[in-house]
Amino acid sequence: MIATTQEEIEHLRMSGKILSDVLTALAGLVRAGTTTAALDLAAEKIIRERGGVPAFLNYKPSGAKHPFPAALCVSVNDQVVHSIPSEETILKSGDIVSLDLGVNYQGFFSDSAITVCVGECDEAGKKLINATREALAAGLATIRHGAHVGDVGAAVAAVAARNKLGVVEELGGHALGKAVHEKPFIGNVGTAGQGEELVEGHVLAIEPIFAEGLGDIVLDADGWTYRTCDRSRAAHFEQTILVTKTGIEILTPF
Ligand code: MG
Ligand code: MG
Repeated sequence: MIATTQEEIEHLRMSGKILSDVLTALAGLVRAGTTTAALDLAAEKIIRERGGVPAFLNYKPSGAKHPFPAALCVSVNDQVVHSIPSEETILKSGDIVSLDLGVNYQGFFSDSAITVCVGECDEAGKKLINATREALAAGLATIRHGAHVGDVGAAVAAVAARNKLGVVEELGGHALGKAVHEKPFIGNVGTAGQGEELVEGHVLAIEPIFAEGLGDIVLDADGWTYRTCDRSRAAHFEQTILVTKTGIEILTPF
């Protein structure tokens, strides 16, 4: 959406604030022995206590066989995104865990993701996580009124190349606000100056997803979980932002 009124912007800020607070709380719950289902329960509880609605719960985008059955996506190691929380998935020390969450607050949507280690992870895992987070910052730094979608992808892909990591090109950012996914798609590869022009008021989710391997992905039999084809580990960072005349306002700070 392109937010034009102060009231819309205030609602978007509240949506993003709830989401940020939940992700911060969840990061504190990630430890060895915790199930991904426990994280999902905590996420839904806090969102509802704050007056929001979990945006991913029962979400069924076109092409999906069945609606997503949880509030939170918890993707571990070679799981890239959209993994369904489960009582059977027990986190263990050294796992790389991506937490991806959407909030609907009075009809205004935000979307954000972080990747954390369970305890300490190895040097390669730290590099993967740090580079993906750095790519988010690099992508965001290109955005202002008059920037183009391709500017974001070019900046994100440059960070991956420098770190010899793979970009998951099939997935990427998007506009949002009145729904959890709106057009345009904002790829994690691109050519600066190309693609749709971004304008003041645009609400966007920027979300680099990197893998230690090539970045090719495959959909699991559950119809939701994407894994890397080469089983290498992946990381994902995402923030919802508002485009301003001179830059951005981050609506989901972390
Ligand atoms: Mg997301
Ligand atoms: Mg998203």
